[in-house]
This record gives sequence, C-alpha cells and structure tokens, in this order.
Amino acid sequence: MSMFGQVYVKNNQYKIKGNFHHMTPNQPIRNADDGWKLMGVTNPRDMTYMHSYGGEAIFFESLGKGKLMATRCDNRKCDMKGTIYQPFRIHCMSCLGKNTVIDMTKLAKKSAKIHTFMVCERSGAFSILDKPIKFINIEFDGVPTILMSYLSIGDPKIGMKVIPIFRTTNPTYTILDLSWVPVGTKETNLPEGFSF
Ligand SMILES: [Zn+2]
Repeated sequence: MSMFGQVYVKNNQYKIKGNFHHMTPNQPIRNADDGWKLMGVTNPRDMTYMHSYGGEAIFFESLGKGKLMATRCDNRKCDMKGTIYQPFRIHCMSCLGKNTVIDMTKLAKKSAKIHTFMVCERSGAFSILDKPIKFINIEFDGVPTILMSYLSIGDPKIGMKVIPIFRTTNPTYTILDLSWVPVGTKETNLPEGFSF
C-alpha cells in the first residue's frame, strides 16, 4: 500500500495506478499552559498532483538527454520573427502564433553568461537544492530573454561565462535537471548524475 501514484496516458486519457493519497494518523494538539487540555487535532494531508507539461513537455524530456530546447517565432508577418525564446515559450508573445521548437544547446555552451544573481541562505518548503542556493539569470547571444537557473559550482559573478550541465542519470523531468558551472569546470567535478 506504499506504492507511489503512477500515471500514463492512453487513448487521450490519464490512466492511474497506486495510491494518490495516504492516510496518516492525526495527532492531538494540547495546551501546555492549561494542564495539557485538548485544543484540536492535526489533519495530515498528503496528495499526488498530476502536473501536465502540455507543449513544454519536450523541454523537460530533452534536459535528461543533455539538450537545452528553446522556441523561435518563424511567422513572416510578425515583427519578432526570428526571435529565440528561452525560457521556452509555446506561443510568440507578439503575434500569438505557435513558435518553432529549436535546440539551442550549442548556443548556450558557447555564449551563456551570468546577467545577475542572488544567493539564498534559506529556502522554501520542499526545496532540495544545497544551501546557499546560487540563483543565476543567464543571458545568451541573440536571445532577448533571460533564463533563471542555479549555479552548481563556484561563486557567481556578473558577466561570468557559464556552461550548462544536465542530469542525464536518473533525471527528475523538472527544471532541476538543468544547472550551470563556470566554463573550464572538469566533468569529474560535476554533481552526481550530471554531465555536459
Ligand atoms: Zn511572432
């Protein structure tokens, strides 16, 4: 009964298997200042949420294969034609047409640098990143948008050249499968599961 909930799609429908909620015993809440009288109970709630990636699925699938995908507006009538969007945008924000999916791994390896950064000594609930977390905003040549990610090795500096790394062993299929290290980092120093 401890199996994680699993989902696949067949015939355009979700097929689910396993437990999507777990019963956890409630506990009394008592008042230490008044003879430990009963004040209430805790109601633990644990649920599995099915998060659909829609048109962004290829972005997350590709991270585990060592590829950074972006999109580009190819609409001849659009003022933004040829614009590369990273983060991945399914539709062009100028003409609302559907963008073309492109592989920008090479461009990222060649031109990524830190636009700005933020170092966080504390994190929110469920964060599994090592602290301090070095959040970085990354710019690429010819890309007008900025990508938010995190630096795995070293200390961030504005203008620092960085290179993408990918969790190709046991990917999580989330944005955490993408991280960055300074240019020149040796592959043997990368975090477990990551490669260039
Ligand atoms: Zn457009």
